[in-house]
Amino acid sequence: KQRGRGNWVRYAGGMERPASAHARLGGDLRRALDAAEFRIVYQPIVALADGRITGVEALVRWEHPEKGLVSPADFIPAAERTGLIVPLGRFVLRETCRQAAAWLAEFGPDLLDKAAPNVSVRQLHDPDFVADVDAALADSGLPANRLVLELTESAVLRGQHVSRVLHELHDMGVRLALDDFGTGESSLSLLRAFPAAIVKLDKSFVDGIELDEPDTPAAHARQAVARAVVQLADALGLETVAEGIENQEQADRLLRLGYAVGQGYHLGRPMPPEKLTEIFAARRVRAAA
Ligand code: C2E
Ligand code: MG
Ligand code: MG
Ligand code: MG
Repeated sequence: KQRGRGNWVRYAGGMERPASAHARLGGDLRRALDAAEFRIVYQPIVALADGRITGVEALVRWEHPEKGLVSPADFIPAAERTGLIVPLGRFVLRETCRQAAAWLAEFGPDLLDKAAPNVSVRQLHDPDFVADVDAALADSGLPANRLVLELTESAVLRGQHVSRVLHELHDMGVRLALDDFGTGESSLSLLRAFPAAIVKLDKSFVDGIELDEPDTPAAHARQAVARAVVQLADALGLETVAEGIENQEQADRLLRLGYAVGQGYHLGRPMPPEKLTEIFAARRVRAAA
């Protein structure tokens, strides 16, 4: 490091290897959790026909004292590798339930229907996970049917134990969403085996959905997937959310294809909870007027 960036030196004994860089990040995450450096921002999930906020997705942020805001793409993988995702995920779950219960008490279910934290596969393997969810609901007073857990296809495919956990959560009344749908493996058989309520169409299928004449065969195929996913979801009685909507043309096209609900920068950025409280308060005033 003393030699500055871009200088390569041959490995010599006593120097750090990548493995210890990982260990360092792991230690930094641990410290950050103890120092309460993690924040949650919430992104609205919106009815495409009328703009009603049907839910919020909880997305974690790390306010690092030196590095500033760190994106989850940069630390969630390390948190999963080190196992720190379990306490971090527990924090996100508890805080999301607490915040959602507070919003529901203040504004009622017409302004906010449900809240959705992301859950990693490591959490599903944690023997306390179901009890943690139960406690987060009980302590916050959030009804189970207002909690949505977002899981990826690859997480859900991991065998008997995970399957049992998901059925237990389902039996508690918690709803499960398949995140980034279409990017993982074996999507179709999964939908029948897994007690999902919601399918989130990945952003990669929303990109270019507004084009009348997709310019490449790959773009054409992505549009076909977007159409097929909503038909399949309808047939199986699942709700859909289209992710990563960045303009009104995409929202219009998705609505016409049958997507009732969407999420994306065009509909609302991830934002601190105080900002959403302001939005709910303004909408309540408008509804009363
Ligand atoms: P995800 O669950 O698919 O979340 C959606 C991501 O897309 C978020 O990125 C969100 O900010 C971003 N996004 C939303 N609308 C748009 C859009 O219109 N355009 C673009 N370009 N992006 C959009 P974020 O917050 O950086 O999170 C990235 C991923 O990190 C999440 O993907 C999720 O897999 C993971 N993640 C975030 N928070 C948590 C957490 O608390 N626990 C776990 N296990 N994973 C998390
Ligand atoms: Mg998600
Ligand atoms: Mg997603
Ligand atoms: Mg995604």
